[in-house]
Amino acid sequence: MTNTEDTIVAVATPPGRGGLGVVRLSGERAEAIATELIRFAKLPLETQRATVGEFYDPQDGRVLDQVVVTCFRRPHSYTAEDVVEIACHGSPVILKFLVELCLKRGARVAEPGEFTMRAFLNGRIDLTQAEAIRDLIESRTLYQARVAAQQMEGAVSARLKPHKQTLMDLIARLEAGIDFAEDDVSVMEWPEVLARLDAIRADLGKLVEGYEYGRIVREGLSLAIVGRPNVGKSSLFNRLLNEDRAIVTATPGTTRDLVAESAQIGGIPLRFVDTAGIREAHDEAERIGVEKSWQAIADSDLRLLVIDASEPWTDADSALLSRLQPLGALLVALNKSDLPPQISSAEMTERLPSSAGDAASRVEIVETSALTGAGVPKLREEILALAVPVRDLGGEEEFITSLRQQQLLKESLQALFKARQAAELQVHHELLLLDLYDALRALDTLTGATNVEDLLGIIFSTFCVGK
Ligand code: GDP
Repeated sequence: MTNTEDTIVAVATPPGRGGLGVVRLSGERAEAIATELIRFAKLPLETQRATVGEFYDPQDGRVLDQVVVTCFRRPHSYTAEDVVEIACHGSPVILKFLVELCLKRGARVAEPGEFTMRAFLNGRIDLTQAEAIRDLIESRTLYQARVAAQQMEGAVSARLKPHKQTLMDLIARLEAGIDFAEDDVSVMEWPEVLARLDAIRADLGKLVEGYEYGRIVREGLSLAIVGRPNVGKSSLFNRLLNEDRAIVTATPGTTRDLVAESAQIGGIPLRFVDTAGIREAHDEAERIGVEKSWQAIADSDLRLLVIDASEPWTDADSALLSRLQPLGALLVALNKSDLPPQISSAEMTERLPSSAGDAASRVEIVETSALTGAGVPKLREEILALAVPVRDLGGEEEFITSLRQQQLLKESLQALFKARQAAELQVHHELLLLDLYDALRALDTLTGATNVEDLLGIIFSTFCVGK
């Protein structure tokens, strides 16, 4: 754990040269250190106003850089402590020297994430917001940034808040029923308890389900493009990217290595999984390589089988289809639709064994031409629709993106499930309370809140027990 009484310092801008480089200080001595190192025309610094100053070498008094300093006084700052941001010209030498001087004057180098951690420790943000700040910084598309920004404002916590309130309320009433049994405290009727528990479970369940989407938004979607040589995989891949990234050739088997190319569809980063390795294996080493490729294909979020519809169906197509189908949702592109067709959508449908129709085993067929671009927008739509089935989750961007959050929600749900069973059996309140506390604790851990005092407050304030 860090000592929040220290004043911490770090270069806040990325390493390297640039127009600007910002040094950030946070803590009690932030302002004192800044004013010792920088000459200003007028002091004290105004709060939340940019002030021009001269950063000089304390050895000889010579000016090193013209800087702009912004001072945020506690608690109205990023960390809720005194924060000073010094914008220098982006020379690594100047920035390094400035940080060294701050250290000499008693500051300490900030650990990674320590500014944000202080914001959390000082109660300015909760854990979901801290995670969102990290996601925002790491976002690769505007859509990802928008989702992160929403969470940074506390969308997840806001969504959980009423549920936590209901739980605390339930706990408070049941506790009161136990502690003050002889008093006239209204304890909730069982059907009411059940109804409340079910309402919370339904909404938490939705959030857990939404994680799959949240994960894809955060991490991107992996798509494996599979097909015989020369059916148009690379061409289609380029069309999806709208760019000429892979080399397209007219010789079968010469287009290779689509590894780690990335693009985006609807603001969701798309990762293409290399499927070049799946060919006929001639020896053991090749066989292992082929199996590895199939593993990567199975692990991807979605699979796209490309068929050359201008040629008759082949056994190789059948082999790929039967291997792909059990892996989950599948997209089939009947490519080269600009040429006279040998395989129609209807025939393709007939080749698919009838499935139970659940979302996981859905197959969508799209006619495409990588040459003209026909069908490619439809293909993009289907990729999104299949890979991300739960896009409509009520509040558009209210979904969780972190595995940590999902696991805690599941924990809470499990405790609520047990609580529900207990309530159905109308067990003693004390047993039910244990589960309710577990459910609440998981939600508290999720947002990083500690609520014992809150609970005591509710128990003793909202109930006029009068003793
Ligand atoms: P891959 O081996 O599956 O990656 O196939 P390529 O993308 O390298 O394409 C093989 C050949 O088919 C190239 O000559 C492409 O120009 C051609 N091709 C790909 N898609 C289409 C299409 O939709 N229509 C036509 N007419 N030719 C295509």
